[in-house]
Amino acid sequence: MNQQREDDVSLRLTEVGPRDGLQNERHLLGVGDKVDLIDRLVAAGAREVEIGSFVHPRWVPQMTNTDEVAARIRRKEGVLYWGLIPNMRGLERAMDAGLSHVAVVMSASESHNLKNINRTREQSLKEIREISKIIRSKGMVLRSYISTAFGCPYEGEIDFSVVMELAERLLDLGVEGVSLGDTIGVGNPLLIREGCLRALDHFGVEKVILHLHDTQGLALANALVAVECGIRRLDSSIGGMGGCPYAPGASGNVGSEDVINLLHALGFDAGYDLDRLVQISHWLEESFDIAISSKYYRYAYANACFNASAIHSKAP
Ligand code: ZN
Repeated sequence: MNQQREDDVSLRLTEVGPRDGLQNERHLLGVGDKVDLIDRLVAAGAREVEIGSFVHPRWVPQMTNTDEVAARIRRKEGVLYWGLIPNMRGLERAMDAGLSHVAVVMSASESHNLKNINRTREQSLKEIREISKIIRSKGMVLRSYISTAFGCPYEGEIDFSVVMELAERLLDLGVEGVSLGDTIGVGNPLLIREGCLRALDHFGVEKVILHLHDTQGLALANALVAVECGIRRLDSSIGGMGGCPYAPGASGNVGSEDVINLLHALGFDAGYDLDRLVQISHWLEESFDIAISSKYYRYAYANACFNASAIHSKAP
């Protein structure tokens, strides 16, 4: 049993596997399988799940069936089901599908914004302003990603002052939180610490979310320094699935099992059943031939044991 930390209340984890994870997989999962995945994640303890995106099927064919997925998931009380929207058309689809929580995305770098969503950052902000007006009038909730916040495949290093300015403008437009995306996994603990401290100091713990990718194997180290800095909102993907089709070299998100295991080790009760997460990764690997990169998953399997607490109690 993990020690309950006093500041547990504000810990918020968003499972992004059904969106960020699956969008980069070769296999197209059917509606039933995606609904099954989302239900399993919620049963394992997920309280916030990004269920898919409402992008044009030509851009990301893996996300073609998000409307149907949203319509078919069995909503559980207390769980937030998020949908990613690229534009106003996406918002209409998300609303038609009955979602009340939507995420928009823009990039810290102009080049990545142009490649990813085909418009300038100023054009993105203008559209997000219009989207936010509708969201607020309908009593819905909006959050925003700021991609390439710690480095860009086209522009290299990113001046974090640019990220701070964008975050400020997005929060002024009414987004409830900004997810700082290490989209291509080039962040390192020093960069992450500096960025998180600046953002937390300026915007407060409830507004700042961290979104990590594990391209260089530093995602968990980055998660650790972030949590120690005071970050309490993290995105992760079951099994470490994911990447970005418009970010060359980007590999998977930080794995949910690894983040939960880390949080447990730090004394947080994240509200997840780690064994059940491992079972979901196993199901994804066996049923859909999806490569699972979470370290904790490999560990649990190498020990041929799903019971993490039993393993820990035997450790020297
Ligand atoms: Zn991502």
